[in-house]
Amino acid sequence: MTLTIDGGALHDSLTTGQKQAFEWLRGRPKQLLIGGKWVDSLSGKTFQTINPATEDTLAEIAEADSADVDRAVKAARQALESPSWSGISPHVRTRYLLKIADLIEEHAEELAMLETLDMGAPVSFTAGRVASAAELFRYYAGWATKIMGTTNPTDAARFVYMLREPMGVCALINAWNVPLVMAATKLAPAMVCGNTAVLKPAEQSPLSTLRLAELIQEAGVPPGVVNVIPGFGATAGAAMAAHLDVDKIAFTGSTAVGRHILQASAGNMKKVTLELGGKSPNIIFPDADLDKAIETAVVAFCRNSGQICSAGTRLFVQESLQDEVTERIVKIASGYKVGSPLAAATQLGPLISEKQMQRVLDYVRSGQEDGATLQLGGARAADVGYFVEPTVFSGVANGMKIAQEEIFGPVLSIIPFKDENDAVLTANDTPYGLAAAVWTRDISRAHRVARALKSGRVWINTYAETDPVMSLGGYKQSGFGREMGAESIEAYTQTKSVLMRL
Ligand code: NAD
Repeated sequence: MTLTIDGGALHDSLTTGQKQAFEWLRGRPKQLLIGGKWVDSLSGKTFQTINPATEDTLAEIAEADSADVDRAVKAARQALESPSWSGISPHVRTRYLLKIADLIEEHAEELAMLETLDMGAPVSFTAGRVASAAELFRYYAGWATKIMGTTNPTDAARFVYMLREPMGVCALINAWNVPLVMAATKLAPAMVCGNTAVLKPAEQSPLSTLRLAELIQEAGVPPGVVNVIPGFGATAGAAMAAHLDVDKIAFTGSTAVGRHILQASAGNMKKVTLELGGKSPNIIFPDADLDKAIETAVVAFCRNSGQICSAGTRLFVQESLQDEVTERIVKIASGYKVGSPLAAATQLGPLISEKQMQRVLDYVRSGQEDGATLQLGGARAADVGYFVEPTVFSGVANGMKIAQEEIFGPVLSIIPFKDENDAVLTANDTPYGLAAAVWTRDISRAHRVARALKSGRVWINTYAETDPVMSLGGYKQSGFGREMGAESIEAYTQTKSVLMRL
């Protein structure tokens, strides 16, 4: 399959909102936001961000390193101690977050286009992610006035109560794959709880986060409350994780880097949350609504070209159904429109980088060497851009590398099972435990299996649906702590017990 990525011709059909993304790219230099000011990095270094669909350079970005991390942490500490943040009524924090949500919606097409250009996901996908980011700010806005302490029962001579207070300065480090949603998932609860933040987007896709930082300024949030410092992991990221004046670190990324973060944070006992990788099972029982289950299974491994932590990459199908389901999956996936992410009809854009593309193709080779049957795809889908075809393997044994390791590409392993017990045991047999799904019309089985799966999220008769109230996080090596929902409020606050003798 060879594709032509004609950004020029498509550009004429863009909306005014989408065109604003291109104007913004041509606008002022892309600097660091520290203490309310846009500044160059102290080293003067910059790095380029690449459009993975065309391999063109999109922008030159100021590159933060440890000296800039120091500046940003100082600014965040100052803002934390300033009455213009720590002294304000919770209602004011609600208003800031609501305003940010409104501004995200006003600039939705621009933000979605920036994300599409920067990380290659089709506009249909990034539009949904921008809507989710606004929703997250709105959801957490309501929490400001509902973060409660307690009064604790004791004897008549004493009064005991508990205060819930911010953690302090929070270092937030994100992966490349859904940048705006990840920024919202961390910033909204951090801010509503009264913390201040230093946020590092991934070096592969910093643009939408930089634009969000401008909107946060426009919402009137005091300087230093949110600092944004693009840069690389080994320099800026590592300095954030080790910094002795950072109180909490929230990280989204690979399990390997998560381990480094945990070690680096030990220096001053930072509070840590880690959202890491996954190898999520999607289990279809024969009594399921097969049409819906099969169609959704394709979306589950192809969305964002498989670059989703909770992608449904292991499809468990009862032995008797394997041939039928495989055939139908292949039929649907082979019809997926791979192409320019700017086109409304595109379903599969490129992977984020050449490195990621090569990594995915290496996994395809390993699947073939291990004896799995390649039913579809398995190759690069264009000469220019990092496109990989939707790829389906059947007859996969759960012990194979393609079934155990996170590929982060559009690659599905179809694994047969004998019965419910076998399905659950095999589904749980990976080092990961981020998400899982079960498809059945038997409600007892649905809940029995949901309970038995070792996973931070379980869907029944759907896949990847989300809501700000639904927490996200990993069992086993998929993470540490939870984000989203009420659990983020706990993750961004600490409690203080007070006892008074009356
Ligand atoms: P990555 O771990 O390579 O990088 C993530 C971030 O960490 C980047 O900002 C990077 O610059 C930074 N980083 C790298 N080395 C560092 C170090 N030594 N110290 C501090 N920071 C460092 O991950 P990635 O390749 O960008 O993203 C893909 C991974 O993210 C996948 O494993 C995916 O499953 C995971 N992910 C998880 C979730 C979730 O919610 N669980 C969501 C999205 C992505």
